[in-house]
Amino acid sequence: DDARLSQELLRMDGESYGRYKSLRGDWDFGDFTLTVERVQADPFAPPSRVRITVADLGVPESAWGDPVRRRATADHLCRRARRLLRGSLLRIDAGGQEVIERSSCRITEGGGIELRLGVDLPGRGRRIDGRTAERELCETVPRLVDGLDWDAVDRKEAVAFADGVADTVALRAALEDLGLVAFVADGAILPRRSGVSDEPLAEGAVPFSSPESLRVSVDLPHRGTVTGMGIPEGITLVVGGGFHGKSTLLHALERGVYDHVPGDGRELVVTRADAVKIRAEEGRRVERVDVSPFVRNLPTGADTADFRTENASGSTSQAANICEAVEAGSRTLLVDEDSTATNLMIRDERMQALVHGEREPLVPFVDLVRPLYREHGVSTVLVMGGSGDYFDVADHVVMMDSYRPYDVTGRARTLARERTDAAFSPPRARIVDPASVDGTGNRGRGRVKRRDTDVLVFGDSDIDVRSVEQFADPGQIVGAGLALRELVRGGHLDGSRTLAEALDRLDRALAEKGVLLLGTDFAGDYVLPRRHEVAAVLNRLRTLAVAGQR
Ligand code: ADP
Ligand code: MG
Repeated sequence: DDARLSQELLRMDGESYGRYKSLRGDWDFGDFTLTVERVQADPFAPPSRVRITVADLGVPESAWGDPVRRRATADHLCRRARRLLRGSLLRIDAGGQEVIERSSCRITEGGGIELRLGVDLPGRGRRIDGRTAERELCETVPRLVDGLDWDAVDRKEAVAFADGVADTVALRAALEDLGLVAFVADGAILPRRSGVSDEPLAEGAVPFSSPESLRVSVDLPHRGTVTGMGIPEGITLVVGGGFHGKSTLLHALERGVYDHVPGDGRELVVTRADAVKIRAEEGRRVERVDVSPFVRNLPTGADTADFRTENASGSTSQAANICEAVEAGSRTLLVDEDSTATNLMIRDERMQALVHGEREPLVPFVDLVRPLYREHGVSTVLVMGGSGDYFDVADHVVMMDSYRPYDVTGRARTLARERTDAAFSPPRARIVDPASVDGTGNRGRGRVKRRDTDVLVFGDSDIDVRSVEQFADPGQIVGAGLALRELVRGGHLDGSRTLAEALDRLDRALAEKGVLLLGTDFAGDYVLPRRHEVAAVLNRLRTLAVAGQR
């Protein structure tokens, strides 16, 4: 077949571009198969899609036998493929600093591999450039396959990569038994190169060093014993002067739900897998969320246990974000003063004296953060440099000073005052109307795509995802769109299950079948999203309708 493909491409040289369509189907190269899945209509259209299936690359079972190593080895080979394809028209989606299951690369049973790539089929104007196409498909592809053979791979590097991921996974798994919500290893590098680069700050980074009172040591399967700062369950307040590294620490915790590549600096910074960043998000839609713990007596008389708005304020949007996170199953909230609504966070005595009783519909988070933990097991890590109100409720207070953490819990206690908590009733669970999550649309023809990292296009709907901060990879935005579709298609949202129950079912299906469950018919790259981001895009879908609450 490979000789036949080569002849075919050379013969097509100079013909009209549309003739590329005849390439669709399987081409048997002997030790691998090249499948042309989709052909672009013209040279300027999104790339064509090809799949490369190698039955046996010689990857030993030790590198793919368990799900964690399988994900790591696939990720490592995917990054190697990206390097090998540099300068070619073939492109593979290999990710950034996180190691997350993606559609572009999968290790198969028996030590083979399946790669999904994009290729810009070359043209001269609207004519086929058959010679270049021949070089890409008949020379570059076989060279790629040779380069991924386990004999050609630096084994030490591959094993170290998988060991690193396995250690991170073990560390995160240890958190619960240790009574921690997060762990930041001594020596970790938290700051990033810039606001647009997720790579570690190259110069002048102060490595993390834990305060003795919060120091915890953990035994890991490969690295042995590591030490670092354990953030206990409960309420942890991060204080400190401006520019002393508070937000940088919190960002690292946000990303700590994912595993990182060796050299990232955050390999041993982990957070409970259910941690959700909470922020204000003025203007978002809210569909029948029970925000009554935070909001009562609105001037409009609206029922806040069944709250709906097309245009939430800063405070109500943040209240909805908290209640939705708890509804979707999060028991760890991450909050940064930089992105919160002040009136939902604090209320000082003078303001209470002036505006009180029925006139103030909001119950500030400071009065709810303790009952959230004590009665519902929801921990909070909160960055707050501008007010001491949270001294009253914090179990631990960490001060960042010149990028070093200090335990100042004792001193903060001496400044604390008595505070009466409000009551937190668990938010009512919503039952989503599956017909309202219709990604097909008339104009949309079932489109799922992203516009930059701002918008998820889902059928006819544009979902604003700019405030969904824990998308670590743009491909997860597409993955979340496909997961929405699967929630309905797979019968998980059936009009009687609650949203959390539907997400449980989807999680189980994904654990069993892998990320490809989401898009066997999808021509593009996508990355596994967490349930919390799937819930986040659902909650921001403007057509969402809730059939009832339980
Ligand atoms: P804060 O939230 O306390 O105001 P930030 O976390 O935004 O401070 O950090 C301020 C600046 O310091 C950022 O440019 C950040 O990259 C840098 N920075 C943070 N942590 C470190 C560190 N450990 N070493 C060097 N620079 C750091
Ligand atoms: Mg900050």
